[in-house]
Amino acid sequence: MPGLTAADPQLAALIEGEARRQHDKLRMIASENYVSQAVLEASGTVLTNKYSEGYAGRRYYEGQQFVDQIETLAIERARELFGVDHANVQPYSGSPANLAVYLAFLSPGDKVMGMSLPMGGHLTHGWSVSATGKWFTPVRYNVSKETGRIDLDEVRDTALRERPKVIFCGGTAVPRIIDFAGFAEIAREIGAVLVADIAHIAGLVAGGAHPSPVGHADVITTTTHKTLRGPRGAMIMTTAEHAAAVDKAVFPGLQGGPHNHTTAGIAVALREAAEPAFREYAHQIVANSKALATALTERGFALSSGGTDNHLILADLTGKGIGGKPAAQALDRAGIELNYNTVPYDTRKPFDPSGIRLGTAALTTRGLTEERMPQVAAWMDAAIDAAIKDDEAGLDRIAGEVADLLADYPMPGFARD
Ligand SMILES: *Cc1c(COP(=O)(O)O)cnc(C)c1O
Repeated sequence: MPGLTAADPQLAALIEGEARRQHDKLRMIASENYVSQAVLEASGTVLTNKYSEGYAGRRYYEGQQFVDQIETLAIERARELFGVDHANVQPYSGSPANLAVYLAFLSPGDKVMGMSLPMGGHLTHGWSVSATGKWFTPVRYNVSKETGRIDLDEVRDTALRERPKVIFCGGTAVPRIIDFAGFAEIAREIGAVLVADIAHIAGLVAGGAHPSPVGHADVITTTTHKTLRGPRGAMIMTTAEHAAAVDKAVFPGLQGGPHNHTTAGIAVALREAAEPAFREYAHQIVANSKALATALTERGFALSSGGTDNHLILADLTGKGIGGKPAAQALDRAGIELNYNTVPYDTRKPFDPSGIRLGTAALTTRGLTEERMPQVAAWMDAAIDAAIKDDEAGLDRIAGEVADLLADYPMPGFARD
């Protein structure tokens, strides 16, 4: 970053510090990843200079000779990759994308059904502190206490009783396959619009490592920066029937000018996701996640739903004798970055819950494979032991071992020395 280093060395040094941190840590926050050098380059371009309110061929500002082509390319690639009729690539991020869906299909006060937040749903699926829960009437479904999985009979009963206009499926802490066909059947029964929010699993869907909601959900929302490995942004994909309503909701309903530099980054990520190597990547994420789940289980970690089908693992640490938050903090010091999280039916407070959530998307991008997962589980176990014993030197020792291992696994966009 020669220009930035010369103009603002203070900020350049902070970014360099963050890059080193990302290089040296085992990054297991389930919503994070490492984008490619190509995505980084496309995202940091002169496209940030351009205003483009409207859609290709129908803009409110002149000078769209290139931006129209860039946005159209992103849309075409999304349609091709996911096999959808229509894609809107303008939402600034996942939350605004979901809000646009509310604007398209609901009026204030209307009922919306989503998975409750402490069970793994997202804030924007009608949780009380979110605008979506304040301005609309939320109806919630849970996971079964016995299995830790969504019980579609419960979903159906609630849907038939409450008759929401929109049903969301998908979430932020769901370690199991989402049964899109099952949700679609319920939505059809009550004439609701089914929205599949695949923010977490979009890369797995694109790579064939998770069933696709296409053909089941009326509307599909996704972020572009989680398993899909693009820049921070979002897309809304729909059947032809709902295309106009969704486009109108995104602009002019909710947003102004699209972030063209992000659109370019999304276009690059979608091209990458269409490569055979990305299919391998998606399947490797799941293989790593399953291997890690097995290794953690062998070490006495209690996994929500008993394991995983995707990139994500949710562990209840009650049996380990430590809360999720102190564990996450200790693991961070030990070079293992993840987040504390509620587990279903958590008896502790959301800000100090019983669990941790982790994912394998980022470490798979670094090139780690199944054989490394027992070591990762061993480090996690040792770090938690060290945390309980207040053994800070032990945590630092693990951080050193983690950084040593990662020195052999290149980080896209950054060279350590
Ligand atoms: C991450 C996520 C979002 C929100 O995305 P932001 O880009 O953080 O606004 C929405 N829905 C689900 C299921 C998510 O996991």
